[in-house]
Amino acid sequence: MPMYDVVNYKRLLNYLYKNYEFSFFKPLSSCKKRPKVILRHDIDYSLDCALKMARIEHSFGVNTTYLVMVATAFYNIFEKENRAKLLEIRELGHMIGLHSYIEPSIKRKNKAIEEKIIEEFEILRKCIPGAVPIISWHNPFCVLKKTDLVDGRFINAYSKKFTQNFLYFSDSNCRYNSTQIIKLLGQRREADIQILIHPVIWMLQKNNIEEVLVAVFIENCKRTERAFTMNKVWKEFFPKGLSEGFYAELEAEFSDFLVKKGTS
Ligand SMILES: [Zn+2]
Repeated sequence: MPMYDVVNYKRLLNYLYKNYEFSFFKPLSSCKKRPKVILRHDIDYSLDCALKMARIEHSFGVNTTYLVMVATAFYNIFEKENRAKLLEIRELGHMIGLHSYIEPSIKRKNKAIEEKIIEEFEILRKCIPGAVPIISWHNPFCVLKKTDLVDGRFINAYSKKFTQNFLYFSDSNCRYNSTQIIKLLGQRREADIQILIHPVIWMLQKNNIEEVLVAVFIENCKRTERAFTMNKVWKEFFPKGLSEGFYAELEAEFSDFLVKKGTS
């Protein structure tokens, strides 16, 4: 059984559901019966995985926060099907906010960072009305981790409030599986927590980050291929699309490579 899959994610959700109250990024009320959990999902690569996860959470009756990139090579939020996926996530009752990559060249220029997130957020809101001004950083560096931004109009998921007053950890690079997360939480039962869970890690039935990235790569090839069917020359060349055998071979090449590297 893969280490990261729907079964394991449901196991984790079940544990959280029984022991925590689900919350969004907002000031916490002082009357507290159970510790709070903010479940945050940064969408780095795949809206399909995000939607799948959002539906699972909905079936548990819980709502979480999905943070989306508007300037990425991996997906275009304005593409019709992609937009529909994000609208469905919102309709399921989840929050949608911004996941932003700040280039190292504007590292210390706060004004430039603020202008960038204002611009990206306006774009996001045009696509997804009701998106909320919550932001997390893709590959963050220290200066981005401090406070809320633009006079407090944006909530920074990395601000002290949500990373120091909260127990914070992430599954980045498959650092923790469900058993390890549950164990970690068991050691700090009373703490409010923020957990960053990447949908691609759990929705592709894999065992480690290398396998996840390979699966993301192949999914992206398939998506590009589907878009290519709009091109007449391509369509004549491959009237039925690239064969499953083509992808099976690609996958086999990658598995050989991972085995040789000792990661699979
Ligand atoms: Zn990211």
